[in-house]
Amino acid sequence: MKRTLASLEGQPLEGLRAFVRVDFNVPLAAGRVADDARIRAAVPTIQWLRRRGSRVVLSSHLGRPKGQAKPEFSLEVIVPALETALGVPVTWIPNPCTADAVQVTKRLPRGGVALVENVRFWPGEEANDREFAQQMALLGDFYVNDAFGAAHRAHATTAAITEFLSPAVAGFLMAKELQYLAEALRDPARPFVSVLGGAKISGKIDVIDALLGRVDRILIGGAMACTFYLAQGFEVGDSLVEPDKADLATQLLERGGDKIMLPADVVIARELNASAQRRTTKPDRVEPGWRVGDIGSETVEQFGNVIAEARTVVWNGPMGVFEVPPFDNGTVGIAQALARATAAGATTIVGGGDSAAAVSRAGLSDQVSHVSTGGGASLELLEGKVLPGVAALDDV
Ligand code: ADP
Ligand code: MG
Repeated sequence: MKRTLASLEGQPLEGLRAFVRVDFNVPLAAGRVADDARIRAAVPTIQWLRRRGSRVVLSSHLGRPKGQAKPEFSLEVIVPALETALGVPVTWIPNPCTADAVQVTKRLPRGGVALVENVRFWPGEEANDREFAQQMALLGDFYVNDAFGAAHRAHATTAAITEFLSPAVAGFLMAKELQYLAEALRDPARPFVSVLGGAKISGKIDVIDALLGRVDRILIGGAMACTFYLAQGFEVGDSLVEPDKADLATQLLERGGDKIMLPADVVIARELNASAQRRTTKPDRVEPGWRVGDIGSETVEQFGNVIAEARTVVWNGPMGVFEVPPFDNGTVGIAQALARATAAGATTIVGGGDSAAAVSRAGLSDQVSHVSTGGGASLELLEGKVLPGVAALDDV
């Protein structure tokens, strides 16, 4: 168990500078923040510190500038969105590696907020360089990590910095992610069901592998299921498959036995667009020139019945090409099944960027227990890996 911000309650934080690593790696469009969800997700931690009189120094990465100061990746563009989310002015620190930057953090008013330039402008960040971490540590008196989305990376402001700042605790967002993902997996209420889908098996193989040993059932949809069909010798037409992963799929089917459930019916189409000719069929009846775009309604019902019995559900990966209705039916149907299970008392967790977007589009984000903000980090937790950004924090 890791120490959290809540454990600092009652400690004299007034006037101390909190170095807070956040994940402000937000999508941009036309030089503005296109979606401020990640900014809003960090607000509880920031406001908690402000209310206790701390000076809050925020640091994040944005995109992949690869150790160079590239203007298109400057975090300065998010200052207005951050000021709106917090309701206070934010002091911009263009170069955190200067004596001036340290002075600016010390001169912030109590409860004041500063934002530091994209830490990935400096090669020391991604190298987890001790000296760079030590320099960043000069900007704070203690450390809070709320950047769950970056916790699977051992970088200077997520890992090495905790050598130089104490205490080093998890912010509220980080703590919530760990509570759901790590703790729910450690001792899940059963039946424990995992729903996996999305475009590819590769990238999620280790997750399937790790989950097979823990869950009671794995429901597989999306294009991922097509590689399993290929492995069984079915005609898959023009479906998205990974032929080089077919052997692996066979092994997983052998290992998983009855635990693995594949769709009983699929929606196939000539093209994956709304107006294309389409029909529902058995998975072994896909014809050349057709492709799988979604799970069928019989599968939605079957998967839904398994989900209804579950006490813990972890979902990663859409069931179909949910971006193109009506190929979103299966994904929406599964999202609704999760919402019903949640209402009945199950713990339901959604991980993965596209899955989170699909649940949000269905208007059901508030009706599941937890929607993870970190795609890669949540997958690594599901694999049972220790995240460097978590390991670096103080133990309880
Ligand atoms: P997540 O971001 O939730 O981890 P992925 O990135 O693995 O999910 O997969 C999401 C993508 O998978 C979506 O863009 C979706 O269109 C695609 N997808 C799902 N099913 C299919 C399918 N049958 N054929 C092609 N693409 C699919
Ligand atoms: Mg994705």
